[in-house]
Amino acid sequence: MRQALTVRPFEFEIIESAAPALQEGCAIIKVVYCGVCGSDLHVYEGKHPKVKPPAVLGHEAVGIITQIGNNKDNLQVGDKVAVVPLIGCKECEYCKLGYPNQCVNRKVVGFQVTGCLAEEVSIPIENLIKLPEGCDLLEASLLEPLAVVVHCVGLLERIKISTKEAIVTGAGTIGILIGLYLREKLGMNVSMVEINANRKELAEKIGFKVFQGIKDIPIKDTRPVAFECTGNKKVLDMLVTTDPAPEVIVILGTFERTLELNIFEMCKRESYIIGSQMYTKKDLEIAAQIMSTPMKEVFKSILVERIYSLSEAKEAYDEALNSQKGTKVIIQVNK
Ligand SMILES: [Zn+2]
Ligand SMILES: [Zn+2]
Repeated sequence: MRQALTVRPFEFEIIESAAPALQEGCAIIKVVYCGVCGSDLHVYEGKHPKVKPPAVLGHEAVGIITQIGNNKDNLQVGDKVAVVPLIGCKECEYCKLGYPNQCVNRKVVGFQVTGCLAEEVSIPIENLIKLPEGCDLLEASLLEPLAVVVHCVGLLERIKISTKEAIVTGAGTIGILIGLYLREKLGMNVSMVEINANRKELAEKIGFKVFQGIKDIPIKDTRPVAFECTGNKKVLDMLVTTDPAPEVIVILGTFERTLELNIFEMCKRESYIIGSQMYTKKDLEIAAQIMSTPMKEVFKSILVERIYSLSEAKEAYDEALNSQKGTKVIIQVNK
């Protein structure tokens, strides 16, 4: 079977390798679609702190089960499934408390474990969710980023929020999906902040008000919630010090390990900052429910028109890296 191996930064090689053998507790999946994620791009550029090429990337995968043993989830050969890339150790404090996304020994498919830019992959059965019968696999390839969104918005439940105003800084794929989720599912009024012309154009096309800076947003009489998706510390500091300051700032962007923040102003405004880390299987299941409602049409609006083949992995990654459009790039691994 064929795999797309990231051999060096910015270089893919399509290699022939042995098909994975069926192991106890695992299933063999024929990967149909695999999305390109921002974290994949970090590895592709050689900038990921932990994962370096050579690596078989890809964790946003959907496909069809081709081999599976008896299992308590009643999954069968031929079932359409989405992959839950996070493999918790089940032993650590966090796994036991029900936070596998915070596992101290976690492995992620496509990072510490061979990824899904391969015609066939072996995945633990408990890391699969069955997709509904008539489910379109191309639409389902949006499930993974949508699960990230379900998870981070769900974090707001920890705090009482009454406002209908939301700010999203950074209109990349995740930023746009958060905006859509807040607008369509929670009926919130979303203001986007984006300076890149391509991303701004897409966000406006989807109906968002897009502002150059946080201070330009005309919010009055309420403290908004904010989702920070740029990973830019100046933007975060601006969120902390603007008026009215967001009651809660949820962090999605990837920041440097340490950064300066105006803690004085943060304390003055009694703001919460919540970090968000991937998602759990439950979030992916909620995402799957959403994608079987008419709401899916709205979410689909961010899919790129062109679907890349496995041998075009480099073109797909370059498109995701350079286009800066906020759209989702998808690779079709198998027909
Ligand atoms: Zn991802
Ligand atoms: Zn663990």
